Amino acid sequence: MSRAVILADYADGPAVETLELGPVLPGGALVRMDAATVCGTDVHICDGVFDQLARLPLILGHEGTGTVVELGKGLKSDAVGEPLRPGDRIVWAHNWCGRCYFCAVAKQPTLCENTMGYGWGPYEDGAVNGTFSEHLHVSPDSRVLRVPEGVTSPLASAATCALRTVMHALDRMPRIRFSDTVVVLGAGPVGVLAAAAALRSGANQVILIGAPRSRLAATESWDLAARIDIDDTEPEERIEAVRSMTAGRGADFVIECAGPPDAFTEGMEMVRAGGTLMVIGQAHGKTVPVPTTAMKVRQLTVRTSLSADISHFHDALRFLDRHSAKMGLESAVCSNTYSLDQVTDALAAMKAGAEMKPVIVP
Ligand SMILES: [Zn+2]
Ligand SMILES: [Zn+2]
Repeated sequence: MSRAVILADYADGPAVETLELGPVLPGGALVRMDAATVCGTDVHICDGVFDQLARLPLILGHEGTGTVVELGKGLKSDAVGEPLRPGDRIVWAHNWCGRCYFCAVAKQPTLCENTMGYGWGPYEDGAVNGTFSEHLHVSPDSRVLRVPEGVTSPLASAATCALRTVMHALDRMPRIRFSDTVVVLGAGPVGVLAAAAALRSGANQVILIGAPRSRLAATESWDLAARIDIDDTEPEERIEAVRSMTAGRGADFVIECAGPPDAFTEGMEMVRAGGTLMVIGQAHGKTVPVPTTAMKVRQLTVRTSLSADISHFHDALRFLDRHSAKMGLESAVCSNTYSLDQVTDALAAMKAGAEMKPVIVP
């Protein structure tokens, strides 16, 4: 049996229930959850924003770290060949099939046509497939990785969504050079972690633009070239600030981690001619006008990135192992801790923007 947070009906909202634990399938695993973290996506799922994709009843939560209780037949090592044993702390990726066009030919498993996401449901046959739970079944098609000892469970959990997304985006961008200026738009978990990664990639200047002030303040000890609070400034001032820090050219890279349509428009104005605008954050149903002629004349590159494959999870864990303690990443990203019974409070805090990333410890 496992207690878990179930969303069975949008009107009623999430509630804790005790579920049967089905068998561990060959190639899969059963873990005891050490920590899960709340994502904006979980809030949107509860609000019915993704009612076309989510399948009720579902167990909420897609970010998490767990300790292996039982390994299914045939699962002996993780995705990079490290031996796996009960008691190991692991993370796992969404499934991809390895057999569709996008997996096999395009080599972009994040576009897999047969993907199954944790936290999206449905819950059936006793397969616990959401992280806001005491236990979870890692599905046989999921690649798993052992968590390095130096990485705490809440931070590893955040890596399974925010940081691996950043690592995928960096993988899809040209190399950052030592003379480059990188602007990060958005000071949520993705933006803050993108700024951390850009700093450690050796960029000459990293500028973080977002709100609220408390989130910007979480990066106070970092060697950022500037922190710009969007609550205190107009877009024109921010664009001017970036230009004045780059001899009038604009930034070599703008990484959009903010979400609203205006962030794309602002990013287009901040990137230098020949530079790259990387879009990770956009999440709205709107259409944004694009100045296609100016874009061509300025030879801009606009790239997008979604989710991540297991190599980016690996990058994320290594990054945390090397830098999290020195940069204070856990306190910068993970906020208050909640029990399963307090998940409604955690979701409300996330929705209100009152917290960076609430941590659920069952
Ligand atoms: Zn997430
Ligand atoms: Zn596939």
